[in-house]
Amino acid sequence: MNVLGTKLLNLIITTALATKKCRNFAFETNKQKSGMNIKDIQNVLNDIKHLEAHDEKEIENLRIKYLSRKGEISKLMSEFRNVEADKKREYGIKLNELKKAATDKINALRNSISTSKDVNADIDLTRTASPVKLGTRHPLSLVKNQIINIFGRMGFVLADGPEVEDDWHVFSSMNFPADHPARDMQDTFFVENPNILLRTHTSSVQSRVMEVSKPPIRVICPGRVYRNEAISARAHCFFHQVEGLYVDEKVSFADLKQVLLTFSREMFGPDTKIRLRPSYFPFTEPSAEMDINCDICGGKGCSFCKHTGWVEILGCGMVDPAVLDANGIDSSKYTGYAFGMGIERIANLKYKVDDLRLFSENDVRFLEEFSSAY
Ligand SMILES: [Zn+2]
Repeated sequence: MNVLGTKLLNLIITTALATKKCRNFAFETNKQKSGMNIKDIQNVLNDIKHLEAHDEKEIENLRIKYLSRKGEISKLMSEFRNVEADKKREYGIKLNELKKAATDKINALRNSISTSKDVNADIDLTRTASPVKLGTRHPLSLVKNQIINIFGRMGFVLADGPEVEDDWHVFSSMNFPADHPARDMQDTFFVENPNILLRTHTSSVQSRVMEVSKPPIRVICPGRVYRNEAISARAHCFFHQVEGLYVDEKVSFADLKQVLLTFSREMFGPDTKIRLRPSYFPFTEPSAEMDINCDICGGKGCSFCKHTGWVEILGCGMVDPAVLDANGIDSSKYTGYAFGMGIERIANLKYKVDDLRLFSENDVRFLEEFSSAY
């Protein structure tokens, strides 16, 4: 090759190198211009997904690192204006996704720290290690148990029967003949079968005991009963009764009166006075309603006792001979007395509860009032 040839070759090579350099320069300028690529964003996104923090200070540091004005995401955002126009849409979506992911992650870390803080706040190391918090006895159970206990000491044994009853045991055997107006006294829940009903009184248990037992019979029958009453402070569609029955030879009204006086003094105090007023029940003859002196006003008269000084607590009487005969007991040989009271009524008087509905509302504040009761 001659000199000219060599010069020419050098020129070609120099030109080629310069062109390549130019291209490289252009490439580098472009990269510098955008300053980031999709992979950079994706890397930050991956980092954010795996962030961890143990306290609020660490979370704040992460927030500053990623979300503050000088944070990594702001840096990427500021470079967005240099992204080439045809790629702006793709970068824009990705950057928004990154910012949202970072904000969500920081918030989630904050929530988890505050939740675990709340859990820790509930741990009271001074508490005893008792796993079960005991409830209290329901006031109606307290009164029922006390009634059973008092009559139990006078020789009465416990008897029980079904709440869904037939007509015979609730009405017919108790001297309520079909179509007799006395049935209107107890507004009854019947089911589709007209012979089956929800018992309106626990007298049905007396009937069941008499039909399978021979005198002497001395039972006490507590249980739930149902009547179609409008619910108010003084009435409910279900309530609780305790009935007692004593059948033997030569049982008299004097026996009944003494048993009820003893019960009243055991239940309401040794100075309690009782008063018997003539009344009517289909299953007893003669019948009476019994009052005790009003404990609230001491007998002077108040709104609770309707200004009479007396409060009615139960109904009673000598068992009608027709009831004894209907239940297979010879009324020419045996006599008996029976009595019945509402447990709610006794609890109202004993604990000065003036609204019957409180007993069935399951309000823990009300029930806990009885935690120290008998
Ligand atoms: Zn009174």
